[in-house]
Amino acid sequence: MGRAASSFTAMSERPYVSKSKFLWGQQCRKLLWVAYNAKDRIPEPDAAQQAIFDQGHEVGALAKQLFPGGIEVSADVTDFEQVLQKSLEAVKLRKPLFEPGFVYNGGFARADILNPVSGGAWDIIEVKSSTEVKDVNLLDLAFQAFVYSGAGLNVRRCFVMHVDRNYVRRGAVDPKKFFKLADVTKVVSGLSRKIESQLEDMFSVIRLKQEPEIKIGPHCSDPYDCPLTDECWAFLPPDSVLNLYYGGKKCWRLLQEGVVNLKDIPDEVDLTDRQAIQRKVAGTGQPHIDRKALASFLKRIRYTASFLDFETINAAIPLFDGLSPWQQVPFQFSLHRQAAPGVEAEHHAFLADGRGDPRPKFLHRLRDCIGDKGSIVVYNAKFEAGVLHALADAFPEHAFWIEAVKPRIIDLLQPFQAFDYYHPAQHGSASIKAVLPVLTGRSYADLEIQEGGQASLEFLRVHFGDLPEAERQKVRGQLERYCGQDTEGMIWIVDALRRLTD
Ligand code: SF4
Repeated sequence: MGRAASSFTAMSERPYVSKSKFLWGQQCRKLLWVAYNAKDRIPEPDAAQQAIFDQGHEVGALAKQLFPGGIEVSADVTDFEQVLQKSLEAVKLRKPLFEPGFVYNGGFARADILNPVSGGAWDIIEVKSSTEVKDVNLLDLAFQAFVYSGAGLNVRRCFVMHVDRNYVRRGAVDPKKFFKLADVTKVVSGLSRKIESQLEDMFSVIRLKQEPEIKIGPHCSDPYDCPLTDECWAFLPPDSVLNLYYGGKKCWRLLQEGVVNLKDIPDEVDLTDRQAIQRKVAGTGQPHIDRKALASFLKRIRYTASFLDFETINAAIPLFDGLSPWQQVPFQFSLHRQAAPGVEAEHHAFLADGRGDPRPKFLHRLRDCIGDKGSIVVYNAKFEAGVLHALADAFPEHAFWIEAVKPRIIDLLQPFQAFDYYHPAQHGSASIKAVLPVLTGRSYADLEIQEGGQASLEFLRVHFGDLPEAERQKVRGQLERYCGQDTEGMIWIVDALRRLTD
């Protein structure tokens, strides 16, 4: 990767395109235009996105430990000129540099790590919390290599430092074992040759007086969920063709051809059986019910039945020994035991407390209340079975009873995935959040915590953050209500299915 210019570039009138804006510009010209001309329209990241950023920062801090003597070039410096000035001074020291900022040809780049190597050259290292190299990481590095080379640095090689999925924590996290280094110099070098013209294109978009008209498409979520999705997608009716079950490219083709509503899909369009059900119910407004299939599903439930749901947390840097990066750790369960259809169920629950590994207590409590007979009804068995499997591996002393539990599991998601029941208001979703309201009239809307991702974040926030005890107890109550509703909701759903098949 050669030296493209011998001196650092002076500031010019036009705005700089940072790495994140460059990636936005590659994703969508409209997003880029809005970012420069109407940035108030871009919403702040929500709690889930913020949690992803936070994970990235933690992983980044761990990676820096691999570069002792490294310099934080401009931590807490917000002034653009100062960042450039400090970076220029820092390169002279020939030490590893964290986030040095350089500009070239309208691009502004700040690599995670710039590492000095022999011959006065530098390696660029981008740290990622994912477990593999993604295409977007290569583009990201190509942009940085273009700017750094152009700004006068001799860039030797480019690396993605990502998390090793096979790492297992034993004691303090060892960054040498936690990360994998992928040399992507060759492919990045090829990509960086196109950056100059891509940047020029972007500046011509930014300068447009009018926002470019871009139709929505698969690019709205690739490689990132676009922050303008709510705005651009607002014209779609609730029953749009984008709700086609596993519709993929077919959805976009239909939309391009001007078919917006499910009910308007022409007869000659090739649909799967489930998609054809969607088209039919969108037209009639009435649910599709296969009573025979539902009755045969209900017959499989053996009483006393246990309605079970887990909540889990995961993190890039494993929180406890024995865990791999991003591995799911159960911290809560709710279990309703019902002796016969229609009778009141007994409720059992577990919610971990403190900062220790929740799994041993979780397992003891679950073993004590799950019984040894009757069906275990869950919603999306793949998830619960996967968690149980990992628990049996990690705690072999519990493997015996866990193995006995597995054949008892029945997946309540299955009849909805099979479209044995499908209501138009499910809008293409078989999740419990879509099914519960249409079958029972109840919903999660009154609950403070309304879905699993939020439950994980709230658990982490109040158990690993520094919060007043009253706040902690309040959130624990909300978690109990949320998880409890998932299992009680399954009983309500089964009751509703029985009424349909009686
Ligand atoms: S939602 Fe889609 S069309 Fe709209 S700005 Fe984002 S990527 Fe572009």
